Amino acid sequence: MDETPELAAFRAETRAWLEANCPEEMRTPVTSDSDICWGGRKWRFRSGAQRLWLERMAAKGWTVPEWPTAYGGGGLTKDEAKILAAEMRRLKARPPLSSFGIWMLGPALLKYGSEAQKLEHLPPIARGEVRWCQGYSEPGAGSDLAALRTSAVLDGDHFVVNGQKVWTSYADRADWIFCLVRTDVQAPKHLGISFLLFDMESPGVTTSPIKLISGYSPFCQTFFDNVRVPGDNLVGEPGKGWDIAKYLLTHEREMIGGMDMGSAGRDSMNQMAKKAIGTSKSGKLKDGLLRADIVRHEINAYAFGLTMERVKDEAKAGQGIGALSSMLKYYGTELNKERQELLMSIGGSDSLTWEGEDRRDGDPARTWLRSRANSIEGGTSEVQLNIIAKRVLQLPGA
Ligand SMILES: Cc1cc2nc3c(=O)[nH]c(=O)nc-3n(C[C@H](O)[C@H](O)[C@H](O)COP(=O)(O)OP(=O)(O)OC[C@H]3O[C@@H](n4cnc5c(N)ncnc54)[C@H](O)[C@@H]3O)c2cc1C
Repeated sequence: MDETPELAAFRAETRAWLEANCPEEMRTPVTSDSDICWGGRKWRFRSGAQRLWLERMAAKGWTVPEWPTAYGGGGLTKDEAKILAAEMRRLKARPPLSSFGIWMLGPALLKYGSEAQKLEHLPPIARGEVRWCQGYSEPGAGSDLAALRTSAVLDGDHFVVNGQKVWTSYADRADWIFCLVRTDVQAPKHLGISFLLFDMESPGVTTSPIKLISGYSPFCQTFFDNVRVPGDNLVGEPGKGWDIAKYLLTHEREMIGGMDMGSAGRDSMNQMAKKAIGTSKSGKLKDGLLRADIVRHEINAYAFGLTMERVKDEAKAGQGIGALSSMLKYYGTELNKERQELLMSIGGSDSLTWEGEDRRDGDPARTWLRSRANSIEGGTSEVQLNIIAKRVLQLPGA
């Protein structure tokens, strides 16, 4: 379909602006964890170019292109946002900012937050000034999240929070936490939960990093010992936090499902395999079995990319993505695990490199190990299949 004259003009302006403002270094593929800019008070920019790219994009509101301008966004329509994304891909531009604030808390605050909460929290998220972590899982509450026990008891105009979270990604590097707490112990378990925001520097908050098999510590145990949180930091009504939590999870699952789509600028798997294994006289990859596996994977990945686009378009036209996010999360994460397995096969024994603290390209073993967690974080594959059966396919319960 042809673009309207307005959209064609927007594309031309966007292309020119990106050409003029995206530093050369930010047009190269992300090759290590520190190439990803997370922002926040503790963030140390890897380079001047990383800082400049974030500042320039944030000034236009393009770290969150579709958020309203009043909250630091670009105020773009969905068609304009698609053009911006396409023009960034064309330039192989890196995302200027990655953040739980953008992917998870922002959408939840836009729907459920008070005006004061939106104005306080959304612009610093958009500018990459405050980094958020997610306080959902507890030692006795993972898949059965509503079993959570961290308590928040009202004392005057403050809540007093006590309890423990676990697997809190980047809690030791985050500035604030969005946290599920139990405010009513008498109510049925889903109805006693509230959604609270607080500063990780509040007295009584401590974190203890957990080391993974990959040697890396991306998450923590997080402890709350009489943490005093202003009552105004409650999002929505007391006891209604479960609705907010579920809505936020649909955004988290959509984001995790689309993680493998961010490999722009890299060699395709076919190109990598040809370089590593060589080609026959006819130019085909020498290993026929691997060739078939790669082709099947690439076709499925292409079809999944189209499904994501369709679901997102339908969601924007209607009531949001809802339980379909479980479908994207399930298939996208299983696909990414398969991709990492194939990359290990392509590299053979050369894949078994293990250098330094950071994950890098050419360090596929750690990326493969990390991908095993994709189908656990944000709710396991089994839990997604349960949701798909009940909410998407409407199958009768057991
Ligand atoms: C990399 C990573 C990052 C994470 N980051 C965060 C974070 O920032 N914040 C946060 O709060 N949490 C985080 N988590 C935690 C994550 O949400 C939980 O690990 C996940 O929800 C599963 O809970 P669990 O680990 O307690 O497993 P369990 O719930 O104990 O599940 C164990 C096994 O039982 C299966 N199972 C459980 N219930 C059912 C059922 N009803 N039907 C079928 N099978 C079932 C599961 O699929 C799984 O295989 C993270 C996890 C990972 C791996």
